[in-house]
Amino acid sequence: MRYISTRGGVDPIPFDDAVMMGLAADGGLLLPEEIPAVTPDRLEELAALPYPDLAVEIMAPFIGESVPAAEFERLVRASYAAFDHPDVVPLVRHGDIRILELFHGPTLAFKDVALQFLGNLFAWILARRGESLNIIGATSGDTGSAAIHGVRGRKRINIFMLHPRGRVSPVQERQMTSVMDANVHNIAIEGTFDDGQRIVKEIFGDLAFKERFHLGAVNSINWARVLAQSVYYVSACLQVPAAERRDGIDIVVPTGNFGNIFAGFCARRLGAPIHRLILAANANNILAEFITTGCYRRGTVEETWSPSMDIQVASNFERYLYFLLNCDPAAVRRAMADFAANGELTVTPEQFRRVREDFAAGFADNDETIATIRDFHRETGYILDPHTAVGVRVGRKYRRREGGLRPLVCLATAHPAKFPDAVIRAIGSPPPVPPALQGLEDLPTRCDTLPADTDAVRSYLTALLLRERC
Ligand SMILES: *Cc1c(COP(=O)(O)O)cnc(C)c1O
Repeated sequence: MRYISTRGGVDPIPFDDAVMMGLAADGGLLLPEEIPAVTPDRLEELAALPYPDLAVEIMAPFIGESVPAAEFERLVRASYAAFDHPDVVPLVRHGDIRILELFHGPTLAFKDVALQFLGNLFAWILARRGESLNIIGATSGDTGSAAIHGVRGRKRINIFMLHPRGRVSPVQERQMTSVMDANVHNIAIEGTFDDGQRIVKEIFGDLAFKERFHLGAVNSINWARVLAQSVYYVSACLQVPAAERRDGIDIVVPTGNFGNIFAGFCARRLGAPIHRLILAANANNILAEFITTGCYRRGTVEETWSPSMDIQVASNFERYLYFLLNCDPAAVRRAMADFAANGELTVTPEQFRRVREDFAAGFADNDETIATIRDFHRETGYILDPHTAVGVRVGRKYRRREGGLRPLVCLATAHPAKFPDAVIRAIGSPPPVPPALQGLEDLPTRCDTLPADTDAVRSYLTALLLRERC
């Protein structure tokens, strides 16, 4: 399998090169030349497999010759051994909705599913090539801790993680800044997540700098993340009894950067019986607006109870756009240039019709988020985290509108103990603290603060990396 850029400026490259490149050299995003199909019969055969085996089966065609089969299997197994539930991503039913719990990894958010795998994959590729890698990324909270835990203590890898100062939850911040391994560097940016993401994009756009210091990405611009995430969409479908999913299932996805839901789009294209993907946004709802109106318009970021979704410019949107524009890189380039110039992008009526086939959307404001945690807890005894609550709210609204025909799955993107303030607000007491978070507030921390300025970050990196070379 080979990989190309949404903007057409990269000669086809194998999987391992795509993983190491992160953002495509022409500023676009990398995608496989094709998405290989799994037949319905084959899918039924996979239904009985444990999660790591399912992951091997689904991902192998995308890896091609890049990693020998036995090695690949070992990497995948190691990645899910760190999860504290035997099913890795269990599907639990509560009343009218099924919750896919994606928070059983080391940092209690869905990002562990991909980033444990990516850490192992990076380490394997680097050892084989005799190279080193400096990961730089921006986080709205959960990516940072999951990425840090995916690579902490590894030889040949440094990680530099930017987070918006004071805008991630205290638990999220501690999960990052309390990691003392010498290869881990936390940077608090005086700005928003979008500032952090822009800085990282600009640094990657400086190709000379990128090559000189072997920079790599862990943000959801990295194809390996999308790929690893598409597996749990298949698993969600297969965990619903076959008799109940004849007409497919609906999956609601609490969305920020469009990475997670784009993985769902890939799973649907490769044959997972997903009827519709329902995008759930908080007050930062430009993607939900796009799906309801066909117009994608930049706004300003608002802080909410679900900070990992406080994003306005969703980098993975470009991957979807590529498919929507009939895999025409010139059209993607034009659309992205238009958006950069005008802060706005509108699709044709025909394209909009296809958007409506792929997705439904809705959003929940802060009050609705808290009310949903409260109501769901009262009805079922189950505590939702605020991101998942946005999903449940939007999913239930969708079901009321469309009728309750198909099984409805909501992805639980984080454990409620990561966001105790929202839970206390909703139900009056904090959620039980799982072992992974116990004692966190007593640990020492390490972090540097920088202005939201690309040159400042570049100078910081240069100084540190040159020192390391001596
Ligand atoms: C990252 C994150 C999201 C948003 O996921 P995207 O892939 O950016 O759309 C939602 N919820 C939680 C808890 C997250 O950590």
